Amino acid sequence: MSSKLIFKKRDPIESTVPKNFWKIMITDDSADVHEATVFALKGETVLGRSLEFIHTYSADECLEALKEHNDTAVLLLDAVMETRDAGLKAVKSIREDLGMRDVRIILRTGQPGDAPEVDSIHLYDINDYKTKSELTRNRLLTSIITAVRSYSQLKYIEAGSRTLKQIIESTKSLSPGQSLDELAVEIMERISSLFHFQGEMTFCRALIEGGEAEIIAWKKGGDSGPADDRHSYTIGEEIQKALDSRCSSYFKRSVCIYFDDSKEYSYTVGIVPEYLNEEEIPLMEVYASNLSLTMQNYRLFHRMARLAYEDPGLKIPNLSALIKKIESLDSPFQSNLFLLDINQFGSLNDMLGHDYGDQVLAAMVRRLKTALPPGAFIARVSGDVFAVISGDLTNQELLEIFSRPVDLDEGKQKLSVSIGSVSLESEYISGSDCLKNAHIALKRSKSEGMGSSVRYNPEIGLETRERIRLLHELRNAFQSEKLFLMYQPQVDIKSGKPIGFEALLRWKSSDGAFIPPSTFIPLAEQGGLIVPMGRWIMKSAMHALKELQHSTAGSLRMAINVSAIQLSSYDFLEHLKRTLKETRVPPELVDLEITESAAILGAEKVLALFHEIKALGLSISIDDFGTGYSSLSSIDSWPADRLKIDRSFVKDLGVEGQGGRIVDLVIPLGQKLGMQVLAEGIETEEQAGILLDLGCPEGQGYLYGKPMTLKEARKWLKERS
Ligand code: C2E
Ligand code: MG
Ligand code: MG
Repeated sequence: MSSKLIFKKRDPIESTVPKNFWKIMITDDSADVHEATVFALKGETVLGRSLEFIHTYSADECLEALKEHNDTAVLLLDAVMETRDAGLKAVKSIREDLGMRDVRIILRTGQPGDAPEVDSIHLYDINDYKTKSELTRNRLLTSIITAVRSYSQLKYIEAGSRTLKQIIESTKSLSPGQSLDELAVEIMERISSLFHFQGEMTFCRALIEGGEAEIIAWKKGGDSGPADDRHSYTIGEEIQKALDSRCSSYFKRSVCIYFDDSKEYSYTVGIVPEYLNEEEIPLMEVYASNLSLTMQNYRLFHRMARLAYEDPGLKIPNLSALIKKIESLDSPFQSNLFLLDINQFGSLNDMLGHDYGDQVLAAMVRRLKTALPPGAFIARVSGDVFAVISGDLTNQELLEIFSRPVDLDEGKQKLSVSIGSVSLESEYISGSDCLKNAHIALKRSKSEGMGSSVRYNPEIGLETRERIRLLHELRNAFQSEKLFLMYQPQVDIKSGKPIGFEALLRWKSSDGAFIPPSTFIPLAEQGGLIVPMGRWIMKSAMHALKELQHSTAGSLRMAINVSAIQLSSYDFLEHLKRTLKETRVPPELVDLEITESAAILGAEKVLALFHEIKALGLSISIDDFGTGYSSLSSIDSWPADRLKIDRSFVKDLGVEGQGGRIVDLVIPLGQKLGMQVLAEGIETEEQAGILLDLGCPEGQGYLYGKPMTLKEARKWLKERS
């Protein structure tokens, strides 16, 4: 919007002939009078305008011609033409029939005796009465000047009352909601039509406290538009002066109308007038003060709009502004919406303080602003999530922007960001839908690990929506107690004697299908449902253990699966203690199955937790051993009691291949670490035999029993005692 004022040497305005003129009608039956009058007045200007003559030769012709030239300023009318009173009759018709009250009339006659009655002069508003002999060149000119002045004043008063009303209407209807250049053009249009300025106009502003004028918009003849470099501006100096002195100036060659918003900006409309009617200056002043009110409203309006659409901390567009922006994109368009999430911003904030966090966010914005292609739109969507709209930018390019660390007050910080993006080419999708899709892509990207990026496509959308639907259904199922536990026996392989059960969660969805825990447990983990669900599982499994205990003489243990997210919940231990107390189950009969994924909690936390669990008297099994990603070195230090060999290794036992070799390694490893070993998924006697030979004493699998209801489990126990 800002382009520099170009100071252009201007042509002296005196040399340009004003287009406006006063119409003077001469009505006389003598051609000589016409000639003499024109000769006397030729080349004269009155109030800056030249004179144009209209010739008529009778009263009737005069009336006819006036109908056409109703802007005639002065009528030089012969009193005696067809009849002695033809002139006076014509005056009566002009005033009464034609209703022309403003045209000034100078009645001329050859004889003083032809003079009309004084009453008529007043009645018909005759300006002047002269004998033709009196109308020497000088006298005639003086009469014309007086008449034109009087005409112009009458017009001015008429225009003035109209203009004042228009001024009030005009400023009232200016909308402060439009953009500044739109408003500027509108203001210039109105000034032009109110004060009849046809020449070049320039709308400028500067800071009230002083500064260089910045052009906002221009107008030239019928054309107007926001500032651009194609236009040069004639009266730059005067505009700057008006802005600096904070007042309007009115010269023949330049008019500068000054107004301001009383706080931030001064404005000036610079005009190169074709003709300046000095009598209108007071009206222009009134207009200027009304424009100041308009600009105050404009400032307030846009400040409010800013507050509604700006992030107060970072001073960049906020979520509402983003949605508005997406929806305002003209279709068809091709652009992309990117969402960027700073990885581990939360822990950065927690560890180094909010001040540091704020610095990181500001540095993020700085980096985006400097590195993105021009025209890119940046917004803050929430805490550490930013949005970028840009046509030519890829996920990869955006990731690379953060390959270098960002600068903070205190040194540098490497930022890892995850990106989700979506193409904004569809015309049918709303701003918030686009944003939803970008969020889906971002979430997927985050689940793929730090520093990844994902572009949204309909499949991802479908999967995510299906997951959300399923999570919703799972939550309902849990709340309406439709989840239940099954129990799978664990045995001493050698004797086949039951040593315990593993509690396994089951969900039969509303359409009657069993959804496998491998699907719904991760869902519950992502949806935050696993913690309340885990508590319920713990309690139910312990109650079940007490029931099962009645069905057998020996002591049984209950293995309960605990997810890493459950473990990390702040009151896990608290709750565990309470449940043990409530159910009065001896802690040593409870075995918590924890997978290697617990390593994500960090070695310190895992160790502390394991020690506390052990201190309560419970035992711990490392579930699915060998399938996870933790290093052996960390497991080495975990005070666990048992390794559970994953069934994927057991499956291949007896068949030539990897499975056998790993079991071969794991069993001695467990023994070395001082842990017991239990093999999962034993389906055949052969597998059981090999495991026993390799030194694995405990097992679980379909060979001994599938997961069963509590009732079935009691029956199963009875059959074996
Ligand atoms: P897991 O803890 O390793 O559970 C053993 C899985 O092996 C169970 O699958 C069980 O039905 C299956 N299985 C046992 N013996 C055999 C066999 O001989 N052959 C075959 N093919 N499969 C056998 P399930 O019930 O589908 O559970 C899958 C996983 O879901 C579990 O693996 C566990 O990680 C998780 N899970 C189940 N219930 C819970 C729970 O209550 N809490 C938590 N956090 N996770 C659970
Ligand atoms: Mg398990
Ligand atoms: Mg397992």
